[in-house]
Order: sequence, then structure tokens, then C-alpha cells
Amino acid sequence: QRGSLVFLFFFSDLISVITANSVDPDTIFANNEMSLRDIEIYGFDYDYTLAFYSSHLHTLIFNIARDILVTNHRYPEGLRKYEYIPSFAVRGLHYDVQKALLMKIDAFHYIQLGTVYRGLHPVPDEEVIAMYEGCHVPLEIMSDFYGKSSHGHTMKQFMDIFSLPEMTLLSCVNDFFMRHNIDYEPVHLYKDVKEAIRDVHVKGIMYRAVEADIEKYICYGEQSHAVLKKLSAQGKKMFLITNSPFDFVDRGMNFIVGKDWRDLFDVVIVQADKPSFFNDRRKPFRRVTDKGVLLWDRIHRLEKGQIYKQGNLYEFLRLTGWRGSKVLYFGDHIYSDLADLTLKHGWRTGAIIPELRKEIKIMNTPEYVHMMTWLQSLTGLIEQMQVHRDPTSRAVVEEWIKEREAMKPHTKDIFNAQFGSLFRTYHNPTYFSRRLSRFADIYMASISCLLNYDFQHTFFPRRTPLQHEPVCLILAREKCSIFSGEKKN
Ligand SMILES: [Mg+2]
Repeated sequence: QRGSLVFLFFFSDLISVITANSVDPDTIFANNEMSLRDIEIYGFDYDYTLAFYSSHLHTLIFNIARDILVTNHRYPEGLRKYEYIPSFAVRGLHYDVQKALLMKIDAFHYIQLGTVYRGLHPVPDEEVIAMYEGCHVPLEIMSDFYGKSSHGHTMKQFMDIFSLPEMTLLSCVNDFFMRHNIDYEPVHLYKDVKEAIRDVHVKGIMYRAVEADIEKYICYGEQSHAVLKKLSAQGKKMFLITNSPFDFVDRGMNFIVGKDWRDLFDVVIVQADKPSFFNDRRKPFRRVTDKGVLLWDRIHRLEKGQIYKQGNLYEFLRLTGWRGSKVLYFGDHIYSDLADLTLKHGWRTGAIIPELRKEIKIMNTPEYVHMMTWLQSLTGLIEQMQVHRDPTSRAVVEEWIKEREAMKPHTKDIFNAQFGSLFRTYHNPTYFSRRLSRFADIYMASISCLLNYDFQHTFFPRRTPLQHEPVCLILAREKCSIFSGEKKN
């Protein structure tokens, strides 16, 4: 009994230490050591990096794509009853194109049970296990490097923030067909939804809607402006590489920065066609006039104040000389924006993950701290006590194992009722997390986090213990930062 009293004391002590050291959502997190002192040139993606959109945009994309399905692809009228559900999907999910299932997969290719959805409803665990002969998804059927389900792969990963309405629309249409017992081919449905969503972008419907009511769709513009001004005041070079068309970016940047926004950037590239921009040497740059007219002359320099379309990174490097680790590029798409730069070209990379802000706020709540501390303690107890084989000890350990199992759904639901956290399954990092840590040197909720650091700052990744390393060495640094109150600046 004395043992359990000591344990309870230790437990409450632990909770107060964790609560006192809550995470600031405006922190920049490091996967790889990087000093801003070394960065001379800053590059940016536009959508969801400099321009952050309100949830109205997802509703708009969902509604237009849904109506395209009905009008152009002869889907049932009844679909129009479905509205966008903002809290349904999270980014980074996988979709089994043939089985029409949306699910979350961990860093080891295991499906997280409890997160498999057919239409708008969860699939029972036993059914998932029967369908996949367990929970493991073999490499051959996972999507390729860019998350697309090309080359016969059946699992597509949704990495784009714009894909939240796409996943929701897929789920709604599946729901409608199943609810009405309609026999349909899931592969066709996937393709049609993908095309409808693409049309919303490509045919300019979304661009026109945003341009017509920019205040409704773009938020936190003043913060992006402050970051750009701060960089410019430090004499840093800046450039923009976006897949969006010039008109759209121009309107948005006028709103965020003002008419003279182009003075801040040394190079502006629109309709770049990332990720092929980073790989395909064949596409030359082309100059676009303010009125959108394409010029035919060969490009020998990328000049400030001009607008260029398409091109490729090899040409960009040749014309600017901006090579290697003095360049830091920010984007929200881990594959299209960051992967090639890290793997092939050696620029430093910063991922913008807006979802971080919400997840960190949840992790700072007393409810979450209490739950996770108890879960970790319980896991430790089970690990220690499982060696005792007498019936009484075994009964106690069995109870703990049951309790640990029973806590699982709540550790998921606290983030998102269907799919849980973007970063973790029950006990592992997600597939998304693994890619994030591989392709991004630093990551943060928004570009405005840069305002909290000066340009001499070095980001040090936390030294996470490898499984065979003693934990006390890591605790030493954590303790130092807790007691010195060390944060930022
Ligand atoms: Mg983007």
C-alpha cells in the first residue's frame, strides 16, 4: 500500500511538472538542426503558406464539386442534400480506391483500427482485419512517392489541405450509394470526384470566387505581411514559387501586403507545376505581362518586378545561383513542396502545418495531460510487473491491460472523433508524421511563428532517445529548459 501511495504522489507531481511546461502553439519545431544565421534566401509557396484560407473555402470547393458531379457526371440529384462537414476528415489519410475505405495508417504501414470509414460510418475492426488479412498494408499497394494512386496502386494518400473537401465528398457520395443500395464502381467514383475537384481549381471557379470576396476567404494576412517585412528589413532575398495563376496571387497579395507587394520579392514564379517543377528540366521559364499575356522571348535572367510562368528548378538554380543550405523554402505540401528539395537539391525546408495549433491547444488541456500521464504510467507498470507470474499479480496486470485498452478510443477522439490526431495513431507516429520528419528541417503552425525568433536563432531538435539509449541523458536537457524558463528568443 505504501508503494501505491508513493506512486500516486509521483503521479500528481509529474502532472504538475507537465502542466507547468505546456507547449506554446507559436513555437517552431526542429527535425534537424538549423540556424537562421546561415539562411540568406527565403522562398515561399503561396496557398496555405502566405495565404491562409478560412473554412468557407472548403465549403465552397465541396459545394461546387458536388454540383459538378450531379450536373456533368450524371450523379443522383439526392447528393445535393449533403453539406460539407468541417470536422470529418484530417489530412494525411489513405483512401483504398477499390474498397472505397478512408483510413489512417501509421509509420509502419499498419492501419489504425477504429479509423476505417466506409462512407460516413466506421467499419468494425473484425471486418477490417478480415479484408486486409490483418492490419498491415503491403508496400506494393501504397501510393507512390507523391501520394498519388497511379501505376495501379490502390491506396491514395491525401496530403493537401485542399483535399479535405475531396475526402469529405468521397465519403458523402459513398454514403449516398450505400444508403440507397445502389450498385456502383468505387474506382469510377474516385476518378469522378478527383476530376470534379480538379475542375474547381483548373477551370478557375475557385479563383474567381475567392477574388470576388477576398476578405471572406483569406485570414491572418497581416501576419504574413509582418513576416515578409521583417525579412526584407534584414536584407534577405525572397522569392515565390506557386502553382496558382498570376491574377489570383496578385489579388491575394494585394490584400495581404498591398499594391507594392512585388517590391518585396526578387523572383516571382506562377503556375510552376510543382512537383514536376523540381524534376523536369525540359520546361523553360516564360514571361507573363501584368495583363496575363505570354511572351515568347528566351529568358536569360529572372528579374525583380517581372512575373514568370512554369520553368524548372535546374534553370532556376542556374539563373539565380541560389544553391544549397543558404536557401530555406516554406510550403504546406510535404511531398509537392518539400520532398524533392530535401532529397535532391539540398535546400533547407520549412513545413507549414496549420493543424498544429489546434492539436497543441488540446495537448495543453489538463484533461489531456492527465490522460496521457496516466496512460504512460500504466504502460510502465504493465511492463515492469508482467514478470510476476503468481495468480494475484497476473490478475492485477490483466486489469491494467484492460484499462489501457479502454483508454484508447478517448486518446483518439479528443483530437478528431473519426480519425484522431494527424501525427499519431494510438501508440505510433502516423505515416504523415514519418514523412514530415524526413522532408522538413523545421515545422510550424504558420509562417507568423517566425516573428517570435531573431535571425541569429538556431533550432535544435530535441534529442529523442533511441530505444536502447538511457532516458536520463535526455531528461537533463528538458530539466534545464524547464528550470531556466528557456523558451524562445
Ligand atoms: Mg500550398
